[in-house]
Amino acid sequence: MKTHPIISTIHAYLDDLVAIRHDLHAHPELAFQETRTSDLVAEKLAAWGCEVHRPVGRTGLVGVLKGDEGRSGRSLGLRADMDALPIMETTGVDYASTNEGVMHACGHDGHTTVLLGAARYLARTRHFDGTVNFIFQPAEEGRGGAKAMVEDGLFERFPCDAVYALHNSPDIPPGVIGVRAGPTLAAADFFDIHVQGHGGHGAHPYQTSDPVVIAGQLITALQSIVSRNVPPLESAVVTIAAVKAGNLEGRNVIPNDAYLSGTVRTFTEAVQERVIARMRHLVDGIGSAFDAKIGLDYHKVYPATVNVRAHAELVADVAAGLLGEDRVIRDVHPAMGAEDFSFMLRERPGAYFRLGQGGVAEGRVLHSSKFDFNDAVIPTGSAMFCQLVETVLKRA
Ligand SMILES: [Zn+2]
Ligand SMILES: [Zn+2]
Repeated sequence: MKTHPIISTIHAYLDDLVAIRHDLHAHPELAFQETRTSDLVAEKLAAWGCEVHRPVGRTGLVGVLKGDEGRSGRSLGLRADMDALPIMETTGVDYASTNEGVMHACGHDGHTTVLLGAARYLARTRHFDGTVNFIFQPAEEGRGGAKAMVEDGLFERFPCDAVYALHNSPDIPPGVIGVRAGPTLAAADFFDIHVQGHGGHGAHPYQTSDPVVIAGQLITALQSIVSRNVPPLESAVVTIAAVKAGNLEGRNVIPNDAYLSGTVRTFTEAVQERVIARMRHLVDGIGSAFDAKIGLDYHKVYPATVNVRAHAELVADVAAGLLGEDRVIRDVHPAMGAEDFSFMLRERPGAYFRLGQGGVAEGRVLHSSKFDFNDAVIPTGSAMFCQLVETVLKRA
């Protein structure tokens, strides 16, 4: 297939975009600390002719661009995330992090650059009718920056009929787009369990209510939720990630307390509520069976990322038109990871898709100290956003 004209146009200034990407990579910032990043984004957007609004959701910002026929009143939002992770980089690249212990290990430097590339193209061409909102969000990594923007009036201040976002994917070949209708990333919840027993002498356990034994029963019982309570064609994960009780030196002491913590991943509210109900039941039942008080603190952190079918199909069709049908995976696997773009998708219809970039075979997986965004896929990502705009906000 011949290279699409949008991709060729973006290729002409790819060097500028790669320079931006490397600059962002060298200066990573953690959640809600993205001040240098948002300054850089604001400066580029303004220079290219977008209206810049900030702050939106603390360190977030929005660039607004109207088409050459801004009459329709139609609008859409395109989102990129800007934050980095607390990881010590080991890539050895010459634009490696200069902020020790902080690293763009999830490719958000690439996502920010891809969206800037789209803004530059669309600001120059304006072949659309309506308004595009370029949404640069902070704090995607576990801190809910998307939620902060929504709570700061994102969609009231910048109306969007639909929202789209992408994430790079090391397990999809470079330049291939993956998307699916329905749940695409899981809801991520965290829990903390406190077993309150009665401690005593390690030689006289009959005088105690031993929280270590109770915690052991709980660990085993909680494993039965996924295997026995979740329908086999549905999915869920219950992971106990930490266990703490007693003191390793106190070999003859039964402690008063034991603590467990972990995460639950689900794709639907029905399964999520079933897992929570079973957890409560097991915690209460084991507590009463062993005469201990067990507290369960359950926090819903990120909801599932759910694509609206019509919008997922639109993304796939746009990708096929841009890259050829053989470069589109229309039923890409859902993943148990989570993404706070879900908070935007709860407010507005839209879709979240994957931009293949390769790298798994070389160990460049997400959140690894060897990860690096693949600059070669910047034009594909930017062109996807541009073509979505020119399709959804088509001129009459
Ligand atoms: Zn990440
Ligand atoms: Zn990410």
